[in-house]
Amino acid sequence: MSESFRLTILGCTAATPTSTSHTSSQWLQAGNNHFLLDCAEGTQMQIRKMKLPLMKINHIFISHLHGDHYLGLPGLIFSYHLLGRTKDLHVYSPKGLKEVIDIQHEIANVKTRFNIIFHEVNYGGQKLFENNSVEVEAIKMEHSIPCFGFLIKEKTKERNIIKACIDKYKIGIDKIADIKKGADFLCDDGTLIPNSEITKEPPKPRSYAFCSDTLYTESFINQVKNVDLLYHEATFLQDKANIAKEKTHATAMEAAKVAKKANAGQLLIGHYSARYDDINEFLNEAKSFFQNTILAKEGITIDI
Ligand SMILES: [Zn+2]
Ligand SMILES: [Zn+2]
Repeated sequence: MSESFRLTILGCTAATPTSTSHTSSQWLQAGNNHFLLDCAEGTQMQIRKMKLPLMKINHIFISHLHGDHYLGLPGLIFSYHLLGRTKDLHVYSPKGLKEVIDIQHEIANVKTRFNIIFHEVNYGGQKLFENNSVEVEAIKMEHSIPCFGFLIKEKTKERNIIKACIDKYKIGIDKIADIKKGADFLCDDGTLIPNSEITKEPPKPRSYAFCSDTLYTESFINQVKNVDLLYHEATFLQDKANIAKEKTHATAMEAAKVAKKANAGQLLIGHYSARYDDINEFLNEAKSFFQNTILAKEGITIDI
């Protein structure tokens, strides 16, 4: 069975939270890695409400410094401080966030027992994080202030040895590591067993692209080509395409265009403007151009 690679929507409204909705924040679990993508107001309450493991977050990715994408971060950091966190916390964002958090801690005389390591995001394609199972890189958005999306990709896993073959061909334990990497096996009697006979293909690596606030652009399409799930903001409908452009946001139709050009497996849209009463209109508009579209809704979890 493959490891979990799943996304939970904590908030998906644009601009201001309401009594029933929260602004941008998502939780991505990739195996043992738990990533927070944006951290708007109320994010920690949403995490608690959805019973996600708050203390397992070690990496927080902030797309940009508009309030609806990061104002929950000072509160979350303060809670970690009160809860006695000692593990390092890595925060990735465009320039400026360190100054915001530092001055707040200075004024409040807060000295956290954990290190907050700020990583400045500067350009599209920048490798931000990597371990043996997953990597994260920045995607450059086109917005009114510096803004980045994040592409999270699983690494290709090793081949799986077919258990019955270990006994059948008397494969020694010292040979297993090489076979998992693709080596053939030479039996004692000199017979060469091709790797394909004793191993199975590993599961296909999965990927998720989080494309936060942006106007319609084709500039990052190559980077997100064939992504399994593409989140793209859709603040407006096509009837307000001019306003979208003026405010450096996109429409549902434009999100669908990006998904189609990128050959995404599925499109997830969100960041809806409060001007619209019925978010199903976003779904209908996007689906008319890219059928496999779903709406971001608070509390939903998508297995990628
Ligand atoms: Zn926004
Ligand atoms: Zn913004």
